[in-house]
Amino acid sequence: MVGGMHPVQVVLLLAVVGAVGTIVWRVLQWSQARAAASARAHETAAREVAALSRARTRPGADPRQPIDVQSAAAIEPRAEAAGCPWCDGNVHVVEHGARGDGGDRLRVVTLRCGSCGRTQVTYFRVQPAAIN
Ligand SMILES: [Zn+2]
Repeated sequence: MVGGMHPVQVVLLLAVVGAVGTIVWRVLQWSQARAAASARAHETAAREVAALSRARTRPGADPRQPIDVQSAAAIEPRAEAAGCPWCDGNVHVVEHGARGDGGDRLRVVTLRCGSCGRTQVTYFRVQPAAIN
């Protein structure tokens, strides 16, 4: 006998305590899972922002600041040598065109990442070395 209670009352009390305990435990688990998910979302967002700034500031990302090469043949190997700014995967040329604006012979190379599938555009300028 606990505190003069009837055995049935003791069993009921234990059942109620058990049920409440289960609910509290579930709520705690749920809030922990939510906190973890929110932390993961923040991490993903931070990685995305860092990758975006890498993609924007990498050499050749800006047509006003193309990568200088000495011959057109050097463009594709050079373009593919740089990894994907988002996931560091291998990129390959999917399009290689010329753009003739501002008097400069600009080459526009579109690259696709084999890992994440994102595309990026890199600008090159063919500038043969001066012959002395
Ligand atoms: Zn990638």
